[in-house]
Amino acid sequence: MMKSAGHGKRPSGTEWVWCMGCLRAYRATEARRGGLCSYSNCDALMGELTIPWPEYQTNHPHYPAEPERGKEYPPNDGESFCLGISTF
Ligand SMILES: [Zn+2]
Repeated sequence: MMKSAGHGKRPSGTEWVWCMGCLRAYRATEARRGGLCSYSNCDALMGELTIPWPEYQTNHPHYPAEPERGKEYPPNDGESFCLGISTF
């Protein structure tokens, strides 16, 4: 099995995750080899640079319960965006 990075929750199954690298959502099962973002132009690591969609959506209730692939869901709506994530 893959080694855990030590922090962050690794999503499982068909759970949607939101990628803070490209601001898009994808299903956990669609992650690329090594746990990289599903989108080929983004190399953010799932589990470290993703937020489970339900958690993200809770903080952004105007976003749908089930996101669309390829669509950006930026956290720039003026709400506070504080989920304990360290940015780089
Ligand atoms: Zn991404």
